[in-house]
Amino acid sequence: MSPKDITRIQRLLMDWYQENKRTLPWREKVSPYGVWVSEVMLQQTQVKTVIPYYLRFMEKYPHVEDLAKAPLETILKSWEGLGYYARARNLHRAAGIVTGEMGGILPDDFNTFLSLPGVGDYIASAVQSIAFGRDHAVVDGNVKRVLSRLFLMETPVNHASAHNAYKKTAETLLFREDPGSFNQAVMELGALICTPKNPDCQGCPLSGHCLAHREGSIDLFPVRISRAKVPTHHIAIGVVRKADRVLITRRKLDGLLGGLWEFPGGKVEKGETPEAACIREIKEETGIDAKLSSFITRVNHAYTHFKIEMDVYYCNYTSGRVRLKGPIDHKWIRIKEIDNYPFPRANLKFIPLLADRN
Ligand code: SF4
Repeated sequence: MSPKDITRIQRLLMDWYQENKRTLPWREKVSPYGVWVSEVMLQQTQVKTVIPYYLRFMEKYPHVEDLAKAPLETILKSWEGLGYYARARNLHRAAGIVTGEMGGILPDDFNTFLSLPGVGDYIASAVQSIAFGRDHAVVDGNVKRVLSRLFLMETPVNHASAHNAYKKTAETLLFREDPGSFNQAVMELGALICTPKNPDCQGCPLSGHCLAHREGSIDLFPVRISRAKVPTHHIAIGVVRKADRVLITRRKLDGLLGGLWEFPGGKVEKGETPEAACIREIKEETGIDAKLSSFITRVNHAYTHFKIEMDVYYCNYTSGRVRLKGPIDHKWIRIKEIDNYPFPRANLKFIPLLADRN
């Protein structure tokens, strides 16, 4: 890539971005805190899903201090359905550090910002460039796809070495006079034009510089290593009723879905029926005895590294006192109170059915 080519690509992309960028809430009123929240939400989640969450979140926690002093459970409730709850837990912890140790001001220094919980190279580069004009290139899935096609980069985008390889190219290409807009321009091109399937090369400002377009090899980029098929786990869970209440338990704070509430249950063992697994898991997790009453529904849900098929049953409490093994808390609640508690998305798929029956 000659310096002349780099300058030309930068200008074409910046002009295209100024004319075509989407109106997004975090772009309208740019604040370091707003950019940070939006970038955390946008990791792993699509823009259209993030918008309503972002607007509600910023209304509820308009400043970093508001976020820091809110209870974690309230934050998780605001995050409910967005997935990847470690993002919310880390954001909350980081807000506490910014408020308690940094005078409530987000650091405009890359390495200090990088030291906050949940902040990796992507978030630090995005916030530092967009909010503070620091010249750090961002690398996300969109950026990798655009660069791989533009320069025929063969490093598989899902390989451990990908981030460093694409970061190097992105840093070379970065428009240092306005790194924040340039970073957003590359990501926007990937989101709107250079899409995974059927990219709109006719409408692409970079088509004259794109090697994959010139060679007719767009379908070969980006290169990916094929991964083993994700496993499917069969789960059985019970909505245990006692008079007009049901039992919910809270997951431990770290790990997948940490801090969220759920109904007791777990994996169906080999050779076991889901009904038997449901009763066994309730006993193991909570210490109580319950009797199966009726089948409610089956829920299919995909996480990043596995899928679940979850059979959901009504059960009736029969005996015993709750003694938790695994969960950190429990409550007997009325179904109408359920909206006060944050639940994983897989649970949200059947909770409306419970409301209908109570
Ligand atoms: S010309 Fe096509 S493949 Fe190349 S960057 Fe543009 S949209 Fe992507």
